Amino acid sequence: MSSAIIWFRKCLRLHDNPALCEIINDDQITSMLPIFILDPEIFGVQFEKFGNNRLRFLCENLDDLNSRIQSKSDNSLIIFWGSPQDAIQSLKSILGDHLKLLSSDYCSEPHGRKISELLSKDSSIQSHFHPATHTLLDLDKTLLQPGFKNPKSMKDIEKIFALMYPRDAEGFFKIPHPLAEPANLKNSPEGFSPKKVSSNFAGEVHSVNSLKNKFSELGFLKTTAENFYFRGGETEALARLERKVSSRQDFVNSFRKPKTTSTNLPENPMEPSTTGLSPYIATGSLSVKRLWMEVERANREGPHSGPPESLHGQLLFREMFYLLSLSVPNWDSDQDNTMCKKIKWGEKDETKLSAWKDGQTGFPLLDALMRQLDSTGWMHHLGRHAVSCFLTRGQLWQHWQEGRNVFEQRLLDSDWALNNANWLWLSGVAPFSMPYFRLYNPCPDGKSSLNVDAVDAGFIRHWVPELKNFPVKYIYEPHLAPLKVQEHAGCVIGKDYPKPIVDRKLAAKENLARFKASLN
Ligand SMILES: Cc1cc2nc3c(=O)[nH]c(=O)nc-3n(C[C@H](O)[C@H](O)[C@H](O)COP(=O)(O)OP(=O)(O)OC[C@H]3O[C@@H](n4cnc5c(N)ncnc54)[C@H](O)[C@@H]3O)c2cc1C
Repeated sequence: MSSAIIWFRKCLRLHDNPALCEIINDDQITSMLPIFILDPEIFGVQFEKFGNNRLRFLCENLDDLNSRIQSKSDNSLIIFWGSPQDAIQSLKSILGDHLKLLSSDYCSEPHGRKISELLSKDSSIQSHFHPATHTLLDLDKTLLQPGFKNPKSMKDIEKIFALMYPRDAEGFFKIPHPLAEPANLKNSPEGFSPKKVSSNFAGEVHSVNSLKNKFSELGFLKTTAENFYFRGGETEALARLERKVSSRQDFVNSFRKPKTTSTNLPENPMEPSTTGLSPYIATGSLSVKRLWMEVERANREGPHSGPPESLHGQLLFREMFYLLSLSVPNWDSDQDNTMCKKIKWGEKDETKLSAWKDGQTGFPLLDALMRQLDSTGWMHHLGRHAVSCFLTRGQLWQHWQEGRNVFEQRLLDSDWALNNANWLWLSGVAPFSMPYFRLYNPCPDGKSSLNVDAVDAGFIRHWVPELKNFPVKYIYEPHLAPLKVQEHAGCVIGKDYPKPIVDRKLAAKENLARFKASLN
């Protein structure tokens, strides 16, 4: 009679889950315990690192995972709130020698790696952290390849892929197929009760329901209808994959990221013009391999776009940033980070930062995007370009880490490797950045590479209702509208909606000069 722990870490799903399959396929293992750990190092001691929306999304993920587990076994998800080492230790003290295996997914973040190493040192239990679960590449194995060099472009990462997954006759990388969801799971060990765990653990032990109650008591999970546009969980992830990718061969094959609209679909200001799958990939409720394969399936059917603009191109960027986040020390810092130029950013300016964060800058596109982020936890990639450029090298001259922190708390797809990578990219400090002097106009027209809806501007009207009756001609730069037009639209700038917090052209000129001076 042997038991195993399946620790759902960055992989909140039953499909394509190597750690779970290891337990299911091992005949020596007769029972299992599914766990999730709320590690204060990751979430914050009082969950301060996670905004309301992220916590709500996480609870939905756990709820769905729990239901799926319950439908295939007598098990329920056990949630620990405390240190991972203590959580495993408490289970060991209850199950004793019966506990043979801890199976989980590989984590590349510094803290995650440290925990994996500590647990692997414990000789009383085997610990397996399965690589290439959250990424397509086995990151450690890739870094160890002779002659490995940090990738800095799409060409570089394609070369690395060709080495790790040589191309087939049609030119597709031979990436292993995702694993199927097990038909049945294993039951809990005989006589096991989660109550026993509580008395053995220094932190708190919860079921999904008691965690939701706890979060509500703490004042989290306050929501509005718009918060729910993205629902968490594997069930929703697979449904969205089908709706946005698997059933839309033409969309997939003609996908060119720079052509997608930053202001969502014109007929629906809530719905992304891209796949909107990032929250599911980030939480691991959707396997990145599964998405890759669905795209490949469409691509094999006929002519299709290619990297860097295609959907495969987007996923290759993701892999490139994951590799860099592991190989480059101090990835999240501007100190001793070889991928970050030293720039003398301005003093932290709370007034400017609050206006940016709260969608009160007086620049309607940026305000709409930041309000969308606050409300739904998501923003289009080009929207992220616009707001991050504005905050840093463009207009406000604030350190990229300030924006990074806000995104980390609010994005449903918040991901340490990717969020830092993209802030390095957009603030102009990385070798893979666009030239620092190429700025986005925060008041775009229909020709801007930000691809805004300049016909009806429904996105702006939805998220900045103060401007709901403004004529489209002035809606992206409303302070330029004659007073009569403002009065007629029921929105006087400076009274009903803020004036721009900076002179955008003057600020851009000054900041470009500062950036240039920092490079010398
Ligand atoms: C300042 C800034 C911060 C960002 N922070 C994050 C973050 O914390 N987490 C995150 O997942 N993405 C981040 N991105 C990248 C990107 O904006 C999102 O991945 C994308 O908008 C998600 O929408 P989608 O799923 O519709 O993307 P799609 O265009 O449909 O792409 C499919 C998938 O490819 C991956 N992907 C796409 N673009 C990128 C990219 N530039 N870098 C890495 N992966 C990418 C995502 O997993 C995405 O779900 C950030 C971008 C910027 C400019």
